[in-house]
Amino acid sequence: VPVLAVVGRPNVGKSTLVNRIIGRREAVVEDRPGVTRDRVSYDADWSGRAFTLVDTGGWDPDARGLAERIAAQAEIAVSLADAVLFVVDATIGITDADEAVVKVLRRSGKPVVLAANKVDDQRTEAEAASLWNLGLGEPYPVSALHGRGSGDLLDAVLAALPEPPPLPEGTAIGGPRRIAIVGRPNVGKSSLLNKLAGSERVVVDNVAGTTVDPVDELVELGGRTWRFIDTAGIRKRVKEASGHEYYASLRTTTAIDRAEVAVLVLDAEQSIAEQDVRILQTVREAGRALVIAFNKWDLVDEERRYYLEREIERELVQVQWAPRINVTARTGWHIDRLVPALDKALEGWETRIGTGALNTFLGRLVSEHPHPVRSGKQPKILFGTQPTTAPPTFILFTSGRLDASYERFIERRLREQFGFVGTPIVLQQRVRE
Ligand code: GDP
Repeated sequence: VPVLAVVGRPNVGKSTLVNRIIGRREAVVEDRPGVTRDRVSYDADWSGRAFTLVDTGGWDPDARGLAERIAAQAEIAVSLADAVLFVVDATIGITDADEAVVKVLRRSGKPVVLAANKVDDQRTEAEAASLWNLGLGEPYPVSALHGRGSGDLLDAVLAALPEPPPLPEGTAIGGPRRIAIVGRPNVGKSSLLNKLAGSERVVVDNVAGTTVDPVDELVELGGRTWRFIDTAGIRKRVKEASGHEYYASLRTTTAIDRAEVAVLVLDAEQSIAEQDVRILQTVREAGRALVIAFNKWDLVDEERRYYLEREIERELVQVQWAPRINVTARTGWHIDRLVPALDKALEGWETRIGTGALNTFLGRLVSEHPHPVRSGKQPKILFGTQPTTAPPTFILFTSGRLDASYERFIERRLREQFGFVGTPIVLQQRVRE
């Protein structure tokens, strides 16, 4: 899925525009300096084409002036995205900070769509026209607040995004499996990648004229080709990421969104941290398959092992279903266990239960463990279906809303019965009151 980055000064209405594009009120409408957010990328689509929208509205507290901060923001956006949506405030016009962005954008050669925001009426449209001077092509007048002009803007965005490349003859749908290696700094991601890729790294992927992202690498493992996402970000400790969590998290989120399966690398010697849990949350929300690799196993002694087991029980309850492997990236010990774990996770991720089998299972489950009665009523499951996989998504038609705890119970039983290993499961209810 192509990536569109949204760039602009604070208060130009970026978040409002993001909300308008994704059709939800999800992005935080607050461009206060210092405000960083966990969620920075969103699924969007227009005219039947899907793209990932990355909101680069975070702030680098270390950078000096506003112009530097914005330029840094544009820099990262450009490195991640296939196209950039540059938002300016038409009622204010061009500021020094805007000029700084323009320089970065021009240098990048990436397609840019220029949005002239806050054009709420015909009158301000003339002001938008003055933005031709930026040399970024046609300015699209919009009112993010009222929606005016957003259709034309989105058409322009689609035109700027690369077409999905046609699959070569005989290629399996989707091509090589896409893996994101994620985790905190220094847990051993690049050591693992180096060990895996080693001499067997067959291709550095930079096929011209396609949407292929040059930061990915194709690696031969277990006789098959796998695509490792954003290895540039792993290999060279990217300078903007150093010491700055926001950009690191932006990179991680984008990599997860582009991947089918994430490998969370943890340093087995260290406690599981909030940041690890946040990455897991991102994987679950994105609906990706997951493998957890405890690295630096050479440093784990009996005592640490004991405490680690406790930590796993406490911190990783939400992802009990994920295959876990213990490895030593430095020496290569047990890294051959990664491919079987990936296969297992991807298999669960793509498992589909037939409607007949599913309803037989649900019928038995409900008769053996009926939903508790709530204020005189008992919600019933009338029918279930699994319309999609990747991740497995179930729709339950019910009379009355099921309790969250009963939902969890169903999920647990689904996993036991059908072996959904390594994948989140989505349960949706269609309630007939
Ligand atoms: P990244 O930031 O996650 O990519 O981590 P690196 O791969 O750069 O590793 C960080 C440090 O941990 C380096 O000094 C590595 O040599 C060390 N390291 C990585 N894997 C292992 C391992 O399996 N065992 C031990 N003892 N050290 C490791």
